[in-house]
Amino acid sequence: MKKKIIILDTTLRDGEQSLKASLTAREKIKIAIALENMGIDVIELGFPISSPGDFKSIQQISKIIKNSRICSLARCLEKDIDVAAEAMSFSNSFRIHLFLGTSDIHVKSKLRKNFKEIIEMAISSIKRARKYTDDVEFSCEDAGRTSIDNLCRIIEKVIKAGAKTINIPDTVGYSFPEKFSQIIKEIRKRVDNIDQSIISVHCHNDLGMAVANSISAIQAGAQQIEGTINGIGERAGNAALEEIIMAIRLHEKSLNVYTNIKHKEIYKTSQIVSKLCCVPIPINKAIVGINAFSHSSGIHQDGVLKNKKNYEIIDPNSIGLKEVKLNLTSRSGRAAVKHYMKEMGYHKNDYDINQLYLNFLKLADKKGQVFDYDLEALAFLNEKRKELFYFKLKKFTIESYSKGTTTVSIKLLLQEKEYSTKITTNSGSIDAIYQALKKLTNYSFIIKQFQLTLEQKGDSEIKKIDITINYNNRCFHGFGLTTDIVESIVNAMLDAINNIRRSEKIKKK
Ligand SMILES: [Zn+2]
Repeated sequence: MKKKIIILDTTLRDGEQSLKASLTAREKIKIAIALENMGIDVIELGFPISSPGDFKSIQQISKIIKNSRICSLARCLEKDIDVAAEAMSFSNSFRIHLFLGTSDIHVKSKLRKNFKEIIEMAISSIKRARKYTDDVEFSCEDAGRTSIDNLCRIIEKVIKAGAKTINIPDTVGYSFPEKFSQIIKEIRKRVDNIDQSIISVHCHNDLGMAVANSISAIQAGAQQIEGTINGIGERAGNAALEEIIMAIRLHEKSLNVYTNIKHKEIYKTSQIVSKLCCVPIPINKAIVGINAFSHSSGIHQDGVLKNKKNYEIIDPNSIGLKEVKLNLTSRSGRAAVKHYMKEMGYHKNDYDINQLYLNFLKLADKKGQVFDYDLEALAFLNEKRKELFYFKLKKFTIESYSKGTTTVSIKLLLQEKEYSTKITTNSGSIDAIYQALKKLTNYSFIIKQFQLTLEQKGDSEIKKIDITINYNNRCFHGFGLTTDIVESIVNAMLDAINNIRRSEKIKKK
């Protein structure tokens, strides 16, 4: 029978303590809710004795989270344990996670005790924690450098004292998968009462082995995995949970295990954690990087268009990623170009694929990545020329006050006729420009991306504004290129509007 792997998420504890700026209570709540929605079994919320802020946020979250077990960290000290229990007292079931150094170096130089005293400390702490809850986890800190004899000795004692989960961390990320799984096997073989507890692992990624070590521990019989979303955490980070979860899902049969995770929530949760923690996701990050499902080479793109399984081991939909893009670069083939044109609603008789492909390659060589709106412009090059300046900027003025109103007047030229408007708003210059253009052209859209690039040309500095907008569920791009930043913004929006109009006109034909 398949065994369930318990997932303990420590994004809010191990992950949070590595951030440059602490999360606010509101941000922690948002993350905790996302983790609960994802089906995380145990959410480690923090280390309540460490700061009043941590204590308060744990208290707040413990009132909200109902479906996941909440957990707080505590040293083997009476005050730590009492404070941890108090912080979670609003919840009717919680876990106290105790930790104590068990390696010679920790025992002697950090704790200044002998091993017998360490065992006694662990036992009395577990007993104290058990007064508050049945669910006590014990971590043998620095287990990797603890002799296997001592490790087995203390584990047997703490299980007897009432610890339900025994955690073996690779605190400094030094282990190799084979060696690490050997530790788990030895513990299972040598500790008599090991069946009365769950073996957990907590791996760090200093050698890039955190996920591999976690998986090898599962193979050796570990039943709980600790890690963080996107692998954030001290130094090189913790084991990335989304990678472990998907590895389990893809190899469920051979590993003979499963998780209770709602896989479709993975992508969303990863985005929330990245944004709130201000830790960007590397583009090539496994599972959740933006390139994880985009294909660049012509052969791969052609293969994926014929059957996704040719080059995709994971269906992006399964992690909640709706739209997967093929990168259009000079390495892309005709199949990808045709695919994009079809996605935009064009039939193959609407354009000349040979001509389009040639023009596409030229542009791709210059520009690097090409977008769908570029393709559309290339396909209908002649129309684009005529239509390029359907709406033309004649003149604008702008007057903006800090913490006050912005007034914009814009005059557009449309087929030799002038149209003008004046708008006053409280929501800043960009919105004022948008409102004025919307009134003049009747196009309303959402700005998705806004980018400023400065280019030095001789003595003057050119301000290039690139915007990507969403109009009727389609993306359009526009750019403005002048020495004045505001004028560039007006032109970029106008360019995008002209692109929308052109595409509508082509489709009407
Ligand atoms: Zn850690």
